[in-house]
Amino acid sequence: MRQSRYFLPVLKETPAEAQIVSHRYMLRAGMIKQQSAGIYSWLPLGFKVLRKLENIVHEEQMRAGHIPMLMPTLQSADLWRESGRYDDYGEEMLRITDRQGRDMLYGPTNEEMITDIFRANVGSYKDLPLTLYHIQWKFRDEIRPRFGVMRGREFYMKDGYNFDLTKEDALHAYNRHLVSYLRTYERMGLQAIPMRADSGPIGGDDTHEFLVLAETGESEVFYDSAVTDISLGAREIDYDSHDQCRAIMEEFTALYARTDETHDEAVFNQIPQARRRVARGIEVGQIFYFGTKYSDPMGATVQGPDGKPVPVHMGSHGIGVSRLIGAIIEASHDERGIIWPEGVTPFHVGIVNLKQGDSAADAACDSLYAALGAHGLEPLYDDRKERAGGKFATMDLIGLPWRVTIGPRGLEKGVVELTCRRTGESEEMSPEAAVDRLVQIYAPHRVSGL
Ligand code: ATP
Ligand code: MG
Repeated sequence: MRQSRYFLPVLKETPAEAQIVSHRYMLRAGMIKQQSAGIYSWLPLGFKVLRKLENIVHEEQMRAGHIPMLMPTLQSADLWRESGRYDDYGEEMLRITDRQGRDMLYGPTNEEMITDIFRANVGSYKDLPLTLYHIQWKFRDEIRPRFGVMRGREFYMKDGYNFDLTKEDALHAYNRHLVSYLRTYERMGLQAIPMRADSGPIGGDDTHEFLVLAETGESEVFYDSAVTDISLGAREIDYDSHDQCRAIMEEFTALYARTDETHDEAVFNQIPQARRRVARGIEVGQIFYFGTKYSDPMGATVQGPDGKPVPVHMGSHGIGVSRLIGAIIEASHDERGIIWPEGVTPFHVGIVNLKQGDSAADAACDSLYAALGAHGLEPLYDDRKERAGGKFATMDLIGLPWRVTIGPRGLEKGVVELTCRRTGESEEMSPEAAVDRLVQIYAPHRVSGL
């Protein structure tokens, strides 16, 4: 993309309404624009990151054997009356009446609808196990929408639902989700720690929330610092293996890590003092096993092996896709702007032309731009007639992990400069070497999406 043709409405001033750094940088980098309290337009740069996260989520869900689909945002109130949640959900639910006077609502989550789809289409235990998911806009009329996309009213969420014949199978689905979520967050350059949590209005027995540690997080968390040393890394995962998924779940949940709702001071105090941590975190996902809580009242049964109807065991599993963008920025920034992890960056590399209009510099930028594109990398080329200082400041603010700077002086020696946003280190090399290096850097971060 040539910056002269892009829509990147960068703000010079820090918007007064933004209290935390991710919100400030998202506004300043021209990623979002607030339309009403907690409701945002996603401007091109923000939309690009949202799509990248969405694609990673799709890839990891499908890798785990989960099946993508799409349910509508508007739902009929009748379904929610069946489960009893139409009244329970309270003020957070946006209720709408259509022209026929029918009660509708903007979905805050989809347990009822998916259970309805299931009961209409699945009749036999032979069709199980089954996990369906979608990524769709949700609406919750939050009392205090704040911190930009972190606590929106309209927000983008992946929610998945497993249907299993037995509790044992449903717990495997739970573990499978836990593992796939760990992979998802790691690919986004994040550490998200599964913490034992409270099930809230979804209901259920087993639940973990995934938390990204950050001072600005809304949840108070208590953990053994040793949990921050574990990571999934590049290990091979067989999602069909109950044993492997359970072993990974146990590895990641054995150490003490809880939100304030489930915190137990006595157990916490058994951790060696040097490892006890009280901190804050951002909830970026949650998994639940809730058995037959919805299948019972809604009559979602299958014919079991003995011919008798059995209610299916279910769980639901959510990732806050739009909130994740705020969480990533909270975890990865400096005083000059955002620092995107390679896996989620909106553009792979920024090209800064130090002397726009100089024929050698223009030609070198054009040819680097083409060479990167030929390797499937997407550069943002700042081809505007601006001072170099202003171009660098914009690149630093929008946080592309790598920048190539090209100017007449370097070109006389046959070199360009490759700069790492995170460390600030620069290296001179030929344009060909810069392309090779970038191809190598991004090789592990290719995303195919849905
Ligand atoms: P919270 O406790 O933060 O209100 P929740 O526990 O009610 O969230 P879930 O029902 O678990 O949310 O939804 C799944 C995920 O969706 C959450 O883990 C979170 O990442 C995201 N999410 C929930 N509410 C919002 C919101 N208002 N704005 C942005 N993302 C949200
Ligand atoms: Mg939650």
